[in-house]
Amino acid sequence: MKFLSNAHTHTTFCDGRSTIGEQIAAAQRLGFVSLGFSGHAMQGFDWAYCMSPDAQAAYYASLRGAQAALRAAGALLTLHVGLEQDALVPDDSKAQNRRVYDYLIGSTHYFPEPLDGAWVAVDGSPDLLLRCIRERFHGDAIAMAEAYYAIHGDSIRRDKPDIIGHFDLVRKYAGQLGLDTNAPAYRRAALAALEKVREGCAVLEVNTGNIARGYDTMPYPAPFLLEAWRAMGGDVTLTSDCHNAAQLDCAFTQTMAMLKDGGFDRVLRLGTGASLWEAVAL
Ligand SMILES: [Zn+2]
Ligand SMILES: [Zn+2]
Repeated sequence: MKFLSNAHTHTTFCDGRSTIGEQIAAAQRLGFVSLGFSGHAMQGFDWAYCMSPDAQAAYYASLRGAQAALRAAGALLTLHVGLEQDALVPDDSKAQNRRVYDYLIGSTHYFPEPLDGAWVAVDGSPDLLLRCIRERFHGDAIAMAEAYYAIHGDSIRRDKPDIIGHFDLVRKYAGQLGLDTNAPAYRRAALAALEKVREGCAVLEVNTGNIARGYDTMPYPAPFLLEAWRAMGGDVTLTSDCHNAAQLDCAFTQTMAMLKDGGFDRVLRLGTGASLWEAVAL
């Protein structure tokens, strides 16, 4: 079963390595029917990572232009103009993003308090995250993960994005951090957050970005979380969190098989008509 779509795509407007045009060309080569762009929304700090106000305005205008051009050409590919919005994006920007963009991915990367002026992201510098665990969480990696899940769960429930971003990103450096993702306390925190996010959003992304970048062989989220999500009646979409057009469909075939084996009977993809979503049967 082929999955011919991706809702999590970055470009050179934020930290991606490919341009909008390169991502569209890759999608067309693969025969995709829909493609969603999700640049890192302006967040007001750690500017190296997200779009500046000017970059976000140019990103938006470029994508609306590309969307209109594809429509006018009668192309098979439908574009959706979205954002990946961190939990810490200021509330007024979140309200504006909701009004203007086709869809939003709600992600949590950061802790709210900088450490000596540096913003600590769970997918950023592992050394900084280790220091944060030592200094803020008494050396307890699970306590750090519990704090992460509390932020992620509360923000998705409150902000109601269209997609729940990389739910267990906090395990990216589990080995280096000494974070035991099999520990009951870790699993309890993750499952409690999963219950919370379900109240704010019905679509969880199964994100292969960690496979594309060589951190893992299994996508986010871990199988025990996917199993719980299915039992809650939640939907999934498959994404590559693509920063490099050559990896736009990274590990899609194996992940579709994994979802089918896991008991899912459908995967949502971005729509080709008026609605945001359409279902692909497994
Ligand atoms: Zn992200
Ligand atoms: Zn991303």
